[in-house]
Amino acid sequence: MAAKSSSARCAEPAAGGLDWFRPAAALLVVANHTSPLYDLSPAADTLLTQVLARVAVPFFLMVTGYFLLPRLERGGVWVLLPFFRRTLLLYAGATLLYLPLQLYKGCRPDGWQMLRDLLFDGTFYHLWYLPALLLGMALLCLLPRRGLPLWAALYLLGLLGDSYYGLAAALPGGRALYGLLFSCFDQTRNGLFLSPLFLFLGGRLARRPPERRPGLYRTAALAALGLLVAEGGLVGALHLARHRAMYLSLPVLLWFLFRALQTLNLPPAPLLRPAAAVVYLIHPWMIVLVRGAAKLTGLSRILVEPSLVHFLFVAAASFCTALLLCRLLPRRGPHPGARRAPPSRCWAEIDRAALRHNLAVLRGLLPPDCRIMAVVKADAYGHGALPVARVCAEAGVGAFAVATVEEGAALRRGGVPGDILVLGRSFPPEFSTARRYRLILTAADPQHGEELMAFPHPLRVHVAVDTGMGRLGFSARDLQPISRLYAAPGLRVEGMFTHLSAAESPLAEDIAFTRAQLHAFFSLAEDLSARGISPGALHVQASAGILRYRGLPCRYARPGLALYGVGSPELRPVLALKCRVALVRELSPGDAAGYGRVFRAERPTRLAVLSIGYADGLPRSLGGRGKVLLRGSPAPIVARVCMDQTFCDVTDLPEVRPGDVATLLGPGLCAREVAADAGTIPNELLSRLGNRVERRYLG
Ligand SMILES: *Cc1c(COP(=O)(O)O)cnc(C)c1O
Repeated sequence: MAAKSSSARCAEPAAGGLDWFRPAAALLVVANHTSPLYDLSPAADTLLTQVLARVAVPFFLMVTGYFLLPRLERGGVWVLLPFFRRTLLLYAGATLLYLPLQLYKGCRPDGWQMLRDLLFDGTFYHLWYLPALLLGMALLCLLPRRGLPLWAALYLLGLLGDSYYGLAAALPGGRALYGLLFSCFDQTRNGLFLSPLFLFLGGRLARRPPERRPGLYRTAALAALGLLVAEGGLVGALHLARHRAMYLSLPVLLWFLFRALQTLNLPPAPLLRPAAAVVYLIHPWMIVLVRGAAKLTGLSRILVEPSLVHFLFVAAASFCTALLLCRLLPRRGPHPGARRAPPSRCWAEIDRAALRHNLAVLRGLLPPDCRIMAVVKADAYGHGALPVARVCAEAGVGAFAVATVEEGAALRRGGVPGDILVLGRSFPPEFSTARRYRLILTAADPQHGEELMAFPHPLRVHVAVDTGMGRLGFSARDLQPISRLYAAPGLRVEGMFTHLSAAESPLAEDIAFTRAQLHAFFSLAEDLSARGISPGALHVQASAGILRYRGLPCRYARPGLALYGVGSPELRPVLALKCRVALVRELSPGDAAGYGRVFRAERPTRLAVLSIGYADGLPRSLGGRGKVLLRGSPAPIVARVCMDQTFCDVTDLPEVRPGDVATLLGPGLCAREVAADAGTIPNELLSRLGNRVERRYLG
């Protein structure tokens, strides 16, 4: 149960309702800038553009908070680095996109004005959202422990410079204070006052799923909408507003609207997410283009002046362009290699669907409350640590294991949330990096324990216990030093683990040995508990342990190889290693090929030269022993494998041509078989694939 609910919580929630509201929010923004009802009824237009449309930006902010703040909580500030990088790039791109319009309008801002625009008001009128997003998120990162009071207080302060400015101006010192503020920005609806609250509320909403009946949320949202309309009317009637973007009832409405959308049972619509964002970004250009087209065609009366028709044209043009762009542009990340140039020399195809399949299979083998700690050390055994960790995180995996502090830090910098355990022995100069990235260190033996305890700041730790592997770990009899570690005030010891050394072996003797390892480990955990020390998260099994030893009372299992599809016929290989036939040679009997002339043709022979070598990770020992698949048939690898090239005999495959794709590893030629031919194990084979091998992600 626990595993299920945790995966539901960590996985991207079924965000159907949220997805479908995005285009509506984008439409509201377009309405805000086109005044669709103006020629019908200015009052109705004010209600739409100055009151109702104000739901849009806070909604986008809440969605961002909803998805990002849980990651911030679990993984620390570094997890948001990709978000900041992306948003800054987007802001820079959008600024460039609107530069021609700025110049056309005759804007030549000076230095101070430019800084104000950049930080608060936006480099074009609608772009204020991007600096508001960046600044708000930066505030939440800087003050992660601050709660509702601070963000609500800032919002109120903003409110008094916005819809309720009349009140602020009447207060003693109010005018002076806001005069000062308005010398720094044009409006208070910015990253200081408006966005932190909505980001924070989004993060709060992510903590718990909706718990009440959908009807209740809908009713509450409708009531809050009524409140907003009334408040908007009041603010207008009393002439209090300086700008009308912030209202008291707006946060209340957004809270219930968000819940109501979450409980709308709609399918997720991933295309709408980027499409709504693109509409938001490009619609001012569409306004210009629609007006230009109207002038050219003499339709200026209905298409230039604010009107419903003008709005509809702008909205339609924006949406069509956005959908087209989102279809044409490749999705983020190296997605289906489809639109990229076909790979040439050698490459590895990594099948994300197979990875997800293997995760599901492994989960099925574990007790329901035992979770996966995905082992992604050594660049995820050659599969790419970041892409693999991202797929796992999306599938609900909340814990990862790496070999080194630097590997863990790289995951964080790539935005991976959750627990990251460093399995290897870390050294004191690395401790501060581990702390900065919220990594969990392994306490490797009593001396290492002393080093960890001597560090002046608290560190997260799991204790390694050596039960027979003879590698890292406290001896299982080291009850005293282990207890000391748990009691150390400067350490947060969160778990304890051991590693099995012969879990794969079917020999009775090895099984007995493994049972003794398990017994030693779990007895130690009991001894600690008997002393009043809770040992925390226990974990024992790597891939072989998961496949052969079931039902252990552990919090985690640590699969590596099995995740990548090796070890059981139920699992699917994730990686396929491929290369091209560079050319095909004809040899006469007696001709030799390759270094040392070890290959001699005994018959008229066709030799294919393959564009892969041992520098790409193809074991040199496969020369004369291994095989490749060409056009679905096996061809033997002959002669010595070179650094960049390899020979195979295709005499019996007369249709093989230069440019053909050869498979060296993958479906039909499993890692275990190739490793056996090479005299090694799949782990070594996969983790030694070279940097030169391009990784292509499918599925
Ligand atoms: C590498 C490693 C694993 C993963 O092993 P696989 O056999 O690939 O599943 C698990 N635990 C520890 C301590 C490891 O070093």
